[in-house]
Amino acid sequence: MHIINTWGDKMKFQSTRGLESGVASAEAIVRGIAKDGGLYVPESFPNLYDSLKKEKTLSYEELAFKIIKEYFTDIKEEELMDAINEAYNDRFNVEVNKNFLELYHGPTCAFKDAALLFLPQVMRRARKALGLKEEVVILTATSGDTGKAALEGFKDVEGFKVIVYYPKKGVSAIQERQMSTQEGKNVKVYGITGNFDNAQNGVKEIFGDEKFKEELKKEGYLLSSANSINIGRLVPQIVYYFYGYFKLVKEGKIKEDEKINVVVPTGNFGNILAAYYAKRMGLPVEKFICASNDNKVLTDFFHTGVYDKRRELILTESPSMDILVSSNLERLLFEGSGKDGEEIKKLMDSLIKEGIYEVSDKLKEFLKDFYGNFATQEEVSKAISDMYNKEGYLIDTHTAVAQVVYEKYVKETGANKQVLIASTASPYKFPRSICNALEIDVEGIDDFKVLNKLFEKTKIEIPTNLRDLDKKQILHEEVWDKDEMKEAILSYLK
Ligand SMILES: *Cc1c(COP(=O)(O)O)cnc(C)c1O
Repeated sequence: MHIINTWGDKMKFQSTRGLESGVASAEAIVRGIAKDGGLYVPESFPNLYDSLKKEKTLSYEELAFKIIKEYFTDIKEEELMDAINEAYNDRFNVEVNKNFLELYHGPTCAFKDAALLFLPQVMRRARKALGLKEEVVILTATSGDTGKAALEGFKDVEGFKVIVYYPKKGVSAIQERQMSTQEGKNVKVYGITGNFDNAQNGVKEIFGDEKFKEELKKEGYLLSSANSINIGRLVPQIVYYFYGYFKLVKEGKIKEDEKINVVVPTGNFGNILAAYYAKRMGLPVEKFICASNDNKVLTDFFHTGVYDKRRELILTESPSMDILVSSNLERLLFEGSGKDGEEIKKLMDSLIKEGIYEVSDKLKEFLKDFYGNFATQEEVSKAISDMYNKEGYLIDTHTAVAQVVYEKYVKETGANKQVLIASTASPYKFPRSICNALEIDVEGIDDFKVLNKLFEKTKIEIPTNLRDLDKKQILHEEVWDKDEMKEAILSYLK
């Protein structure tokens, strides 16, 4: 494999489990996960805050370029600029409203858009830099949101196909319609019998099947994933926090260099880790407030230093945070351990074998910059209705989890620092829960009509991408048995 890097390739990546280092970004992006099972992390963090603060008026795209180019140094700068423009122009933007960093102004109305619009663009350039001949097939199992965002990101991207599996009976009517109406020459959506775990295990099994992959390779295809542990998804998220911070400075809410707190509704720990990476690049952040729903593994972890996933997964109304293993936490622990890959490997082995691990005293000390707490369903509903009734501002269930936890933090500590609360989804993405919180009667009404009910009550505009979904043409209707996921791929590729 050749990497063309006449413009210098300063940044390298290493694995959190210690057995790989000096990996160029294009390889880290295309591979997704390191060969030793670890996650790729940057070998260093460039301090950019001091230079960026002199240019507070940069557009989102310009800021993204300045940050991202420090990491993906083996992809030509012009190509990165194109990747960013193709990803974001007219498709995604970040807004700051009160203390809320609204990250959901994209094609699927949730914050995963930002990363999943960029990843395909950078992967396409990485594929070129590596001189790969094969077409790359992205396989994704989804419980609803990630699938749609991956479809939007990869649609019509040259050199790629994207196949999404979702549990036929396990997603909301709106989520299903978002996927089944997906346009694009290179996309395929399959419903499967079974639940999300079946879909995810099916995909994992396919990735582990060397013989099947060999067979596909002969046909000219290479399998890859758009999983949230891909470093190509993580790096673009750093941009949010710089953008939000400079916006607060511009609005006069903070002075330059003043420290702020950030609150992030957390699932896989990607978004909050990006905030930590921003701090490592110099951004003045005091506390990272990690908000969980009833699946409060992380809350317990930040209180005790013990990560214990041995519990039932609870299905909540903030489904994108219903997670027991927050994969990206491994990256934080790696930094906190002083980049001790052996120590991290032991912890992760213990998690797999015993379902639990406890970190060292040194790590516990390091984790003091983080505060964890959780919100129950009643607290979430109350936060939604309070915020709407008192401030006229509508927040979704995930953002409400963050709001509740922030209130708890203030109550416990008396903190009065300026705060940025990550707002991760449009309230219209989960309209039934919002209507219930606002006591709008939606008993027996279908999801599409619920959207209109919420609009009638609040007069807050329904995002265009969710409006009229029920009138769009259905393009994907195939349903396969959960044991025939490979056959489904072959039927599409051959
Ligand atoms: C994915 C998601 C989250 C959790 O983000 P992580 O980076 O996985 O911690 C929170 N809210 C929404 C709406 C999401 O889609």
